[in-house]
Amino acid sequence: MATVTPELSKNLINGKWVESTGRQTMPSMNPATGEVLGHVPKSESADVVAAIEAAKAAFEKWRKYPAPRRAEILFHAAELLVEEKENLARLMTQEMGKVLAETRGDVQEAIDMTYFIAGEGRRLRGYTTPSEMPNKAAYCIRVPVGVVGVITPWNFPMAIPSWKIIPALICGNTVVFKPATYTPLVGLRFAQILQEAGLPPGVLNVVTGSGGAVGDALVEHRDVAIISFTGSTETGLGIAQKCGRAGKRVSLEMGGKNAAIVMEDADLDLATDALIWSAFGTSGQRCTDVGPVVSDTQLERVHGYVEVGQKEGARLLVGGRRTAQGTLARGSFYTPTFFDNVQPSMRIAQEEIFGPVTSIIEGKSFEDAVAILNSVEYGLSASIFTRDVNKAMRAVDDLFTGIVYINHGTIGAEVHLPFGGTKNTGNGHREGGLQVLDVFSEWKSVYIDYSGHLQRAQIDKD
Ligand code: NAD
Repeated sequence: MATVTPELSKNLINGKWVESTGRQTMPSMNPATGEVLGHVPKSESADVVAAIEAAKAAFEKWRKYPAPRRAEILFHAAELLVEEKENLARLMTQEMGKVLAETRGDVQEAIDMTYFIAGEGRRLRGYTTPSEMPNKAAYCIRVPVGVVGVITPWNFPMAIPSWKIIPALICGNTVVFKPATYTPLVGLRFAQILQEAGLPPGVLNVVTGSGGAVGDALVEHRDVAIISFTGSTETGLGIAQKCGRAGKRVSLEMGGKNAAIVMEDADLDLATDALIWSAFGTSGQRCTDVGPVVSDTQLERVHGYVEVGQKEGARLLVGGRRTAQGTLARGSFYTPTFFDNVQPSMRIAQEEIFGPVTSIIEGKSFEDAVAILNSVEYGLSASIFTRDVNKAMRAVDDLFTGIVYINHGTIGAEVHLPFGGTKNTGNGHREGGLQVLDVFSEWKSVYIDYSGHLQRAQIDKD
């Protein structure tokens, strides 16, 4: 069992590990066994305010650290993450149930992101451009936004926080991070490693607790300049409304319904392997080795969808029940589930189930399959299996998702490419790639007039 040190039962505020002001705690549970791994603060708005004040004060210094110096700290963090990879993966498996092969991948994603973005510390490029006027220079630079509120889900408890926190830091922002309620220990340990790498106090703060108390206080606070959120569409759109009213920036990664088209000329062995991995990796919450879903609440939600599918007339081919064999009965295990005879309009075909349940829908043609896939309200990723290069390239053009895979399952994004979705999956921002820098920086244009006199043409034009 991974060691949970005493610090990980506290919030991280201004470089110190502190209890919540109300002294309330909440347990972190192992969904495979039901055992309690530790207790973390059940924080309230006063804790969030303290973290925001620390971040606001730290911003004045951190934004002036030369970006290559910020990068050195992040490179060091990446090295520490490499050293700690196995322990982090084991802690993650215990806290949210993904099998070890997958949690190692999750940690590796955070390592990759940290190395990749640290490299940007020596670039963070703006550009120079000719001015309209003689004896005048013009250029633009990136500047940080301010205090960033980071709110994340439990299915990728290190990768997703890293996609937000690391780019926010390299741009010179400071951060208040609220990890998911089911995965606070991984979030705290990640922050602890960043702290050990040399982040000054207050640059990264962590407040654990519920979405309603901690998340909302973060969203509502006027000193938080931007919210970077990943989670369900329902929560994300609620946050977007609040940010909209306050004129606050918001970057959203929300729900998904990733589908694959298998054409009649596909390599079926390849497609089968890839799609089993896509459907049942992270227990369908994103293998054939399937861990538990994250909680009994989530398991009941998944089972509710299975009942809906049966009522709608889909045929249950396999699964559709809690796994109750031996020691598995103690945890939140759900049997991998397949439906066929699924119509595109059924709820199991349209809505996000977020569990190990997959549907087979027959399309009449390539065009029909594309139309079915595009009919869902989400747009994160999609894939097509075919040996026909023309169909593959047409799928790239016609699938309205942020990511398209050819002859590959719907998972496997790499940190140096933009990541994000269309429609109700996102709001136009991207994580990963260099595009993520646009989320966490403002552009500032600079004009330098060295003519020594007032250049009137510019004034006339204005
Ligand atoms: P969720 O929306 O319930 O919670 C996400 C985070 O928001 C948590 O930290 C939660 O505590 C917080 N939160 C809840 N209510 C809040 C409020 N009123 N104000 C502020 N914060 C609040 O989602 P979840 O169940 O943790 O995660 C699963 C969802 O995340 C799925 O819909 C999945 O598709 C989505 N997800 C999307 C991506 C993507 O890249 N698009 C990646 C991973 C997960």
